Amino acid sequence: MSNPVSLLARASVRALSPYIPGEQPKMADIVKLNTNENPYPPTPSIRAALDALRVEDLRLYPDPGADALRRRIAVLHGHGCDIGNVLVANGSDEALRLAIDAFCEPDGSVGYVEPSYSLYPVLADIRGLAKRPLDFWPDLDWRVPADYSASVFLLTNPNAPTGHLFDKDAIRAFCETFPGVVVIDEAYADFAGVSCVDLALSLPNVLVCRTLSKSYSLAGLRLGWLVGDAGLIAALDAIRDSYNIDRIAQVVACAALDDPAWMQANVARIVASRGRLTDALRARGWTVADSATNFLWARPPAGGPDAQAVFRALREQAVIVRHWNAPRLRDFLRITVGTDTQCDRLLAALEF
Ligand code: PMP
Repeated sequence: MSNPVSLLARASVRALSPYIPGEQPKMADIVKLNTNENPYPPTPSIRAALDALRVEDLRLYPDPGADALRRRIAVLHGHGCDIGNVLVANGSDEALRLAIDAFCEPDGSVGYVEPSYSLYPVLADIRGLAKRPLDFWPDLDWRVPADYSASVFLLTNPNAPTGHLFDKDAIRAFCETFPGVVVIDEAYADFAGVSCVDLALSLPNVLVCRTLSKSYSLAGLRLGWLVGDAGLIAALDAIRDSYNIDRIAQVVACAALDDPAWMQANVARIVASRGRLTDALRARGWTVADSATNFLWARPPAGGPDAQAVFRALREQAVIVRHWNAPRLRDFLRITVGTDTQCDRLLAALEF
């Protein structure tokens, strides 16, 4: 329950419907498949890195440039990426907010595909900016009107909540003619095995946004980044908090990036479970979109309980998935791919 917003707040803040994050239930022994977290732990080398951290050093501010971390990210991406092509942020959510702040004038606009990440319209609303959504549902196509423009276009690839992977040639063609900045949100790209980082490092108006929250199992850390043209990064760097990545986060993130094999092994396990769960749901008559992510976008069989009823029945059995009671979304559930054991508990709970 939240209090009413003060009348002293800006008009756009008073009118705002804030972003609603997925539930973090306090119940014991739940199967938590609602916020696309990774079911496997992050690399154990984080423990040693934390043990080496001197608590007394926490009295000192962190490296404002987070250079060691940005160097690792630059090496990870290759394609000539330099630390000047990387901005680190407190989760990719902060990176997205910085992009809106840096590249939208007060009379500017924010474009995105609909449905995609429900934070994007909220970021526009916070600043009172115009919203320019582009439809792509229900035929999974992406049509851009000839006269389309926006200050910033946010493209989730692969998309959330649908799990769909956009065609890279279509993305490149869009970026080459789009008059504003394109931010390609690749929160789930490690599960797709496809990235547009090469586009971001060759086109002057493209940024790619990445996170440690999903494939690296570090949603609790809050570490994301933008990669792209050095001039775009300089603009973002000029407006961020000087110390936006704390000392502990810099140490943990470096340890995680030093062990890509751990992340890749977890991604491979999740991709295998994704196929297994997709097949099992389809065999039960569900409509399941092909997913390039760590979640499924799935509709229960016609004639049975609808998505909201299934959501409630699962919740009663401590299996938590995501449902939006909104136009075009309400017929579907978004189900995070868990371990095979968790997926089996989900499938058993569907036999209500
Ligand atoms: N982009 C997309 C498409 C997401 O689904 C999420 C997770 N809710 C984020 C960004 C935010 O990720 P982070 O944890 O890095 O803020």
